[in-house]
Amino acid sequence: MAAAEMGSNAVNEVVNIYATIQSLIERVSQGEGGEGFEQVARRYNALPLAEGWFSWALLTDQGEVMEAPEDGPAVPAEEPLRTMFLVAGARRYPELVVMLPARTSTCVDCARCGGSAWMKHGTGKIPCHECRSLGWVER
Ligand SMILES: [Zn+2]
Repeated sequence: MAAAEMGSNAVNEVVNIYATIQSLIERVSQGEGGEGFEQVARRYNALPLAEGWFSWALLTDQGEVMEAPEDGPAVPAEEPLRTMFLVAGARRYPELVVMLPARTSTCVDCARCGGSAWMKHGTGKIPCHECRSLGWVER
């Protein structure tokens, strides 16, 4: 009984995140988030997570994180970028926070960025690669 309930909850959660992504894609396609994001959402039928210098980070309605260069087809994003894109996406769309890896008791603050997830770069700051901009790492 308990196991069956857990199973059905897990399925519901998966279905919910797909529904969440789909509704975010629709909202951004209708202009919520600005014209640049709207164009990208329509072009790829995916959720733009973040804009890079020469590419876009996208989340498909299947929950896949993709990197779309301006001059080529979208390809699956690899770690550490995949998680960094999701972190950036969750800042923009708080609903996506459930897709981020969870910090467990075996994790420690990232020494590189002091747990802030950001590193100084010139006069500004950039996301920390060391911890995939989570602010913590597995011990
Ligand atoms: Zn870090």
